[in-house]
Amino acid sequence: MIINKFTSKKIKMFVRDHWVAVTSTLAVLILTILSIIGFMGLESFYRKMQLAQLPIQIMMWILASAISAIIYVSLMFGRFGQIDTKKVKGSKVNVLFSDVLGVDEAKEEAIEVVNLLKDHSAVQKVGGKIIKGLLMIGPPGCGKTYLAKAIATEAGLPFLSLSASEFTEIFVGVGARRVRKLFKQARRLAYAHGGAIVFIDEIDAIGRTRTFSFMSGQEGNTTLNQLLVEMDGLQDEKENVVVIGATNSPEDVLDPAILRPGRFDRKIYIEKPNLKGREDVLKFYLNKVNYDKSIDIGKVARQAVYKSPADLENIVKEASIICLRNKRDVITHKDLSEAMERIDLGIKHRKHMTPEEKRRIAYHEAGHLIVLYLLHPTDDVFKASIIARGGTLGVVHHQQHEEMFTSNKDHLLADIQTSLAGHLAEKLKCGTTSDGVGSDFPKAMHLAHLMVWCLGMDGKHVGDFTVIPEGQLSEQLKNELNIETQRILQECLAKTETLLRDESILLDRFANELLKKEELEFDEIDAIFKEYHKVKFGASPTPPLEKSL
Ligand code: ZN
Repeated sequence: MIINKFTSKKIKMFVRDHWVAVTSTLAVLILTILSIIGFMGLESFYRKMQLAQLPIQIMMWILASAISAIIYVSLMFGRFGQIDTKKVKGSKVNVLFSDVLGVDEAKEEAIEVVNLLKDHSAVQKVGGKIIKGLLMIGPPGCGKTYLAKAIATEAGLPFLSLSASEFTEIFVGVGARRVRKLFKQARRLAYAHGGAIVFIDEIDAIGRTRTFSFMSGQEGNTTLNQLLVEMDGLQDEKENVVVIGATNSPEDVLDPAILRPGRFDRKIYIEKPNLKGREDVLKFYLNKVNYDKSIDIGKVARQAVYKSPADLENIVKEASIICLRNKRDVITHKDLSEAMERIDLGIKHRKHMTPEEKRRIAYHEAGHLIVLYLLHPTDDVFKASIIARGGTLGVVHHQQHEEMFTSNKDHLLADIQTSLAGHLAEKLKCGTTSDGVGSDFPKAMHLAHLMVWCLGMDGKHVGDFTVIPEGQLSEQLKNELNIETQRILQECLAKTETLLRDESILLDRFANELLKKEELEFDEIDAIFKEYHKVKFGASPTPPLEKSL
């Protein structure tokens, strides 16, 4: 019954859409019949004359209609106000919830939305709230578009997708006209299919807090106003149009007006996947390629903390490229690890360095490595390398065991000590220090400053002193805070130096291994520590990090 209802609606809509074609076809038919009747009534001589003139007449008609068609099209459908019709054409997308990976919580919310959409009329009957706007908030690469498509597929509705940046134009009013067209199309689709999903990506491009500047501000405002007007206009109960907006920005940059009830009042937060999510995503993409079945996917997932599903897909792709280049056909753990590093840090490029320089870099990285392993409460060492990549000459790759959203004092102190370790290892083993601390010192300094100025972690001052305007802080207080910052750095330096002196043999060993192999993987690193009966911090019963600071 429903099918019949929609079929008749579709026919109605076809006639409404194509009335020009329908009426002109009818007119042509009637005129042809009339002229045939007239033609038959003519005498033979005239008939022949008419026939002789026919080809040239047809040619003239074709020419004339072509010219008028060109003029008509360029006048009516000029560049302005026109959106790429391919994108706006509602299409049936085919993405199922089972295809959306790594964002399980967001998926649950989305399933609920689909249920509400399917029961549109039921919800209306009980007076429940009908969804009109849905906002997806989350970092890029986590599958917002994909999830929106899955909602459309699972609810069986056509999907219109557009990026908000396509609304922003220099000419005032163009964006607003595009919004009107988009909603017109959506309403028509909803009329014919019982509903439609409009997906607006990067909604922050028009949805930012309204400003009243002269240049872009004006246009953004009219576009946003038009969007709000259209959404408010969707009150008609027959119009089951749901607008899904997506943004990478935090929601506080968005105009409060678009978050008001009846607009984008439902939100889905999409987070980067957790360990389990990353494992699922990796399994999915690895199953598409030929990989060594002994790979510990859990370990790779642990290594890939903070990676989005798109990043993970990219890692598997990059690994297969590396694998191909080495003329193998099975992806190994080493390929994946290499791919991850290449994406994070850039491609390896061997620089010509003097043995002395190479040795200093090896000790520098060995210093970072040892302190990370023996002191750091949250981070694991995954790899150490003295091959130049991007802007760095060497690197110790480390990640948290699992993503953490806060850092405690021990964690911050361990970060500072790790940062200082490269500098100290150079000092202890090469008798001099170098400028290879370009990223280490700023990091250590920044953290120590943060601990004292903002986090009340020096034991003497409490509060975030950065909220007070510079001029209102007394010179004495500023001095005290800076002295405390330096004290933290000095204490960390002293402790790290003691540790590295105690582990002098280990430092030599790692530097030599690095000089020999250039890269050390987690397993190799772990084996060497075990050889010296060292235990990773956290696994040891007595934490070596003192808490006197
Ligand atoms: Zn360093």
